[in-house]
Amino acid sequence: MINFFKKKFITTTLTITSSNGFHLRPIAKFVNEVKKYDTNITLLAHNKETSATQVPNILALSLEKGDTFVLKVQGKEAQQVSEELSLFFQKLMNEDSIEKEITEEVTQGNEAYEAKSIKGSVVSKGVAIGIPINYVKERTVLDNTCSLEEALKQTAKDLEKLYEENKNNKEAEIFLAHQSLLEAEIFQQEFHNIDQAIEELRGGKFESRMIDYQDLKKRIESHMGIEEKFTLPNNQDYILLITQEELFPSEVEALSKLSIKGVILSSGSSTSHVAILLRSFQIPTIIIHNTMSQVNEDTLSLLDASSAQFIASPTQNDLQKAHSKIKTLKQKQYQTYKKRFEKLLTKDKNPIKILANITNVPSAKEAQELGADGIGLFRTEFLFTEHKPTIQEQTQAYQEVFELFDEVTIRTLDIGGDKSLPYINMEKEENPFLGIRGIRFSLQEKTLFKEQLLAIFQAVGSISSNTKSIKIMFPMVSITQEFIDAKNIAQEIAKEHNLDISKIQFGIMIEVPSVIFALKEFDKLVDFYSIGSNDLTQYLFAIERTHSTLSVEPTSPILIEALTYIIKNTHKPLSICGELAGLEEATLTLISIGYKTLSISSKSIPSLKEKIRDI
Ligand code: PEP
Ligand code: MG
Repeated sequence: MINFFKKKFITTTLTITSSNGFHLRPIAKFVNEVKKYDTNITLLAHNKETSATQVPNILALSLEKGDTFVLKVQGKEAQQVSEELSLFFQKLMNEDSIEKEITEEVTQGNEAYEAKSIKGSVVSKGVAIGIPINYVKERTVLDNTCSLEEALKQTAKDLEKLYEENKNNKEAEIFLAHQSLLEAEIFQQEFHNIDQAIEELRGGKFESRMIDYQDLKKRIESHMGIEEKFTLPNNQDYILLITQEELFPSEVEALSKLSIKGVILSSGSSTSHVAILLRSFQIPTIIIHNTMSQVNEDTLSLLDASSAQFIASPTQNDLQKAHSKIKTLKQKQYQTYKKRFEKLLTKDKNPIKILANITNVPSAKEAQELGADGIGLFRTEFLFTEHKPTIQEQTQAYQEVFELFDEVTIRTLDIGGDKSLPYINMEKEENPFLGIRGIRFSLQEKTLFKEQLLAIFQAVGSISSNTKSIKIMFPMVSITQEFIDAKNIAQEIAKEHNLDISKIQFGIMIEVPSVIFALKEFDKLVDFYSIGSNDLTQYLFAIERTHSTLSVEPTSPILIEALTYIIKNTHKPLSICGELAGLEEATLTLISIGYKTLSISSKSIPSLKEKIRDI
């Protein structure tokens, strides 16, 4: 509900719908979003008003499921900002609930073991056999201490670095959240009271926050010479019990390098930071809230995290069963991974090409390591998000990617819709997905477009091999004139700089439905197409791809009908690079209607290849 407040404010009442409450990670994401607006935004709850840019203050409001708060936006575009932030908030709540549902789902068909088992809830699936060991850390104080002020600065730098390095992964949110939390008074001004602040959280409603406070404390103290370390007595396989001391997010990576086969947590939830990290390191983990008195630190035990059971004293049969489950899982993963570079044919010897969707040089390297046959979609806008890269910076990035593969499709900037550039003043639109987006933006912001084309051409000119297939793809094209204008600009730039672009192919994404009905005309102009199923679905069904409640079945027969129509009505090379291309439920259909080139996220390459070999 939106109403006017003294005519200068727009107030909106928002409800916490996630059963996790409004916790640190969504708060950090929300604050990050709020900071993008140049408007005064506050939040009112429990008779308190706080700036919406302050993570610690919002945390202090302790908003739980069912609570409401008022978002108060001041300024000339208050209404629009308010609507955008409300939508963003609803999306955050939705994501948080979905993640909880997914991670809390226990595998069906509970595995039966002979010995008595303790039931828990799943955090990270898998099976582990090992000796239970309690997590107890040893504390050492070194001499080379630095001041608190310096330690705070160093900690901020560490978190910034960790965020940058992990930006494409889910766990990056944790570092972003901790960066914001570090700004709280308790760290900046009252660090001497930190232990008391942590103790006050114990046993209370917000006990789960203790871990974030403790983790940050630990990071700061490590710069002041105080270290806490956990070591294993020997090289055996262990199941780690987190009962006496806390396991912090910053410690999970170190654990993954020890012979820890599984973890049992005694508190927390499957959406905690530690849980997310344990999943990303694929360490089988469950949570058992009751006491673990039956555990003997000398007995080989069994953790079947897939069915959320811990068996303290398994029988020989139980152990055998677990061993064979572990073996099957490992074999499957290994076989798939090992075959990632092998030629890919379906059972009837139909060759299929699997390309990767990438955003920068590191993701291109990852794609190469995971067996990509080339790059089917280089989303270049991600190189532009923080600052405007120079032509030299762009040239270098493009060249590095071109050197890695024989075939690269590079997409020119796809700005607009839900992607904006902080340094470009873009006019706010009522319906940005239907506005100045993709090629429409590039044809307006010609300087950026020309600089990018020049960088691509220079990169092509400096690659070591001239047998590579480099393709330039324009996004969001809806009529032939847009393609003609874009290609004309490309030719002008090449001529101006005396560069030979005769070997470069030019094509478009098929993501606006109008193209489907103009394929005959487009076929006379373009060298290739790639279907952007994400946007094509959005525009076919008139459902925003970022909508928090509306969605389309990804394998909708209507979409498949559209894909069938496209392949039957063009003679030009055609691939799919939207999410549908990597969806295993859709693979058989896509291949049977004739699609032979799929561009997908790198992590799915080995398993999708394996699936295709079986089709
Ligand atoms: C698409 O729309 O399917 C696509 C691949 O492009 P993006 O997701 O970058 O809009
Ligand atoms: Mg798209």
